[in-house]
Amino acid sequence: MPEPLFERLALLGIGLIGSSVARIAREHGHIAREVVANARTQKTLDRVVHLGIVDRVELDPARAVAGADCVMLCAPVGAYAELAAAIAPHLAPGAILTDVGSTKQSVIRDLGPLVPDGVHFVPAHPVAGTEYSGPDAGFSTLFEGRWCLLTPPPGTDEAAVGKVAELWRRCGSLIETMEPAHHDRVLAIVSHLPHLLAFTICGTADDLADESRQQVLKFAASGFRDFTRIAASDPVMWRDVFLNNREALLEMLARFTEDAQAMARAVRWGDGSYIEDKILRGRKIRQSLIELKQA
Ligand code: NAP
Repeated sequence: MPEPLFERLALLGIGLIGSSVARIAREHGHIAREVVANARTQKTLDRVVHLGIVDRVELDPARAVAGADCVMLCAPVGAYAELAAAIAPHLAPGAILTDVGSTKQSVIRDLGPLVPDGVHFVPAHPVAGTEYSGPDAGFSTLFEGRWCLLTPPPGTDEAAVGKVAELWRRCGSLIETMEPAHHDRVLAIVSHLPHLLAFTICGTADDLADESRQQVLKFAASGFRDFTRIAASDPVMWRDVFLNNREALLEMLARFTEDAQAMARAVRWGDGSYIEDKILRGRKIRQSLIELKQA
C-alpha cells in the first residue's frame, strides 16, 4: 500500500461528499494518516462519531484546520466565504486548500482573496453524486470511474495540483484540468439545468388540482419518476449552485427554452420528422454515454 498522501486531512462539511472521502481514507489508509471532520451542527458530528468514519471531530472550523496539511471544503458553496474567513488565519504554512464545490468561478471569487501567502489553493469538483445528503449517504465507491475536474488558478504550485489529482485518483476518479468558466458552462448544461427542470416539473405536477395530482402519483410513469429522483436532492446545496452559477445557468435555460419552443411548434403543426429527429439525437447521446461508461 502506498504511503498516505497527507499527514492530516480536515474535511469542512461531512455530508454525502465529505463522508465518502472519509470512508475511502478510512478503508484504504492511503489518503491521510489522520482525518478531522467539521460540520455546521453538533448533531451531524455526533452522527459521524457514531459511524466511526473519522479520527476526530471539531465544531469550530478554526480548530479543525489547525495543523492540517490538506483542508477540503465539502459544504454548500454558499457557505464557503464565511468558512474561509473563519479558517484563513489558522491554515498551516504550505498547506493545500481544496474543495469539492459544484461551481468553480464563484469558489475562486469567494476563496481566492482570503487564501494566505504560502497556502496552495487547488479548486476541484468530483462529478459524482446521488440525491441523498448527510453523513449516512456517503459510500466509498462513489467516485469510482467518475471525473474529477480541477480548475487551478494560473500560477498555482504544480506539486500541489499534482497532490490533489493524486488524492482523487486514489478515490477512483479520472482527472481533467479545465478553465473555471468552461467548467461552469459545461456543468450548467449537464447537471444544473437538468436539476432545474426536475425541480420545476415536480412543482408543476404538484400545482395541479388535487384530483389530478393524486393520479400523477398513482400512475407516475418512469419519465416522471426519474425526475422525482433528481428533485429529491438537497435544497440548500442546489439553491447555492443555482445562485453561484447564475449566468451560465440562465444562458443554458434560454437556449433550452428556444429548443423547447421549436419542439412545441413541431407538435402543434404535426411535424413528425422534426420530433423523430430530436428523439433520435437523444438516443444517440444515451448510447455514447453507455460506451463511455458514464451512464
Ligand atoms: P450535504 O450532504 O448536504 O452535506 C453538507 C455538509 O456541509 C454538512 O456536513 C453540513 O453540516 C455542512 N455545512 C457547513 N456549513 C453549512 C451551511 N452554511 N449550510 C449547510 N451545510 C453546511 O452536501 P453534499 O452533497 O456533500 O455537498 C457538499 C459539496 O459538494 C457542495 O459544495 C456541492 O456543491 C458539492 N457536490 C455535491 C454533489 C452531489 O451530488 N451532492 C456532487 C459533487 C459536488 P450540517 O450537517 O451540520 O448542517
